[in-house]
Amino acid sequence: MKTPRRSVEPCRCGGREFVVARPLELCSHSASWVRMDTRRLRPLALAYVGKPEVKTGKEERDLDQPRGILEAVACRSCGRAEWFALEVAEVPIGAEHGTSLVRSG
Ligand SMILES: [Zn+2]
Repeated sequence: MKTPRRSVEPCRCGGREFVVARPLELCSHSASWVRMDTRRLRPLALAYVGKPEVKTGKEERDLDQPRGILEAVACRSCGRAEWFALEVAEVPIGAEHGTSLVRSG
């Protein structure tokens, strides 16, 4: 995954030093066929690509395929943070992904 090189404007407070981070969340996944619960960290993302579940044919989200991973840029002086999504063109659009397109103007 490419890390964007973005220019960062000075913060409203005048701060010029920022922390860039990709926040994670702890999620648990129940795998009933092996009677096991797994907990893992995954990146916050705009969407996860789905794949059909073998037994039911129902679509499940694949936690290994995040799209639009979120990155936060936080001012070290005041803590004001701004979010950015990486590789937004790769984010699937549709209700099944919880995404939609909005155009300005
Ligand atoms: Zn600041």
